[in-house]
Amino acid sequence: MQRSARARIEAFFLDNLGKVATREQIIEVATDPTTGRSPENWHQRLSELRTDYGYTILSWRNRGNLKVSEYMMPNAERRSTTAKRTRPNAQTWQAVLEQAHHSCAWNEGGIVCGLQQGDIDPVGGGTVKLTPDHKNPHSLHANADPRDPSKWQPLCGRHQVMKKNYWDDETGWLNVLAIVQSASEEQKRKVFGFLKRYFNE
Ligand SMILES: [Zn+2]
Repeated sequence: MQRSARARIEAFFLDNLGKVATREQIIEVATDPTTGRSPENWHQRLSELRTDYGYTILSWRNRGNLKVSEYMMPNAERRSTTAKRTRPNAQTWQAVLEQAHHSCAWNEGGIVCGLQQGDIDPVGGGTVKLTPDHKNPHSLHANADPRDPSKWQPLCGRHQVMKKNYWDDETGWLNVLAIVQSASEEQKRKVFGFLKRYFNE
């Protein structure tokens, strides 16, 4: 039986409609049964089921009674009008790559990732593959954007996943809790101080 991680996650949700699935359960079903390797990009597969396959998969972001890292497919319905993800055309993508010196443009407080195509990712492991990221997925001019290099940036796989985790393409909500969770201790302290002032504590 040769099934992709995406197909295994899809089958799992269809077998468990209306039931809460945990992050651990999803990683377990996404794990390759022959190699035993668990995919680091399971979150990306989940997001494909939503955007490319039209399934509804709820998380704590859109359903209050779900906890962080819990997911639920309420029914097997698929939206027929699944929006095709726009991509830059070949010429635009070349221009975007050149602008970014063929490296990941993820910018964290002024520090640019800079990993290049084919590099070994020292943090996530694996070979870097740069893919186009739309800087603003809620652009009003989505049809013109495939020809506009200023609308795109190259990102490495790790930062594509990170952006998806932080920013829900469908709702446009910023996943603030996930951002704070992944922040350094120093940044967490700043947030903590801000919140104490904000709540007068
Ligand atoms: Zn990167």
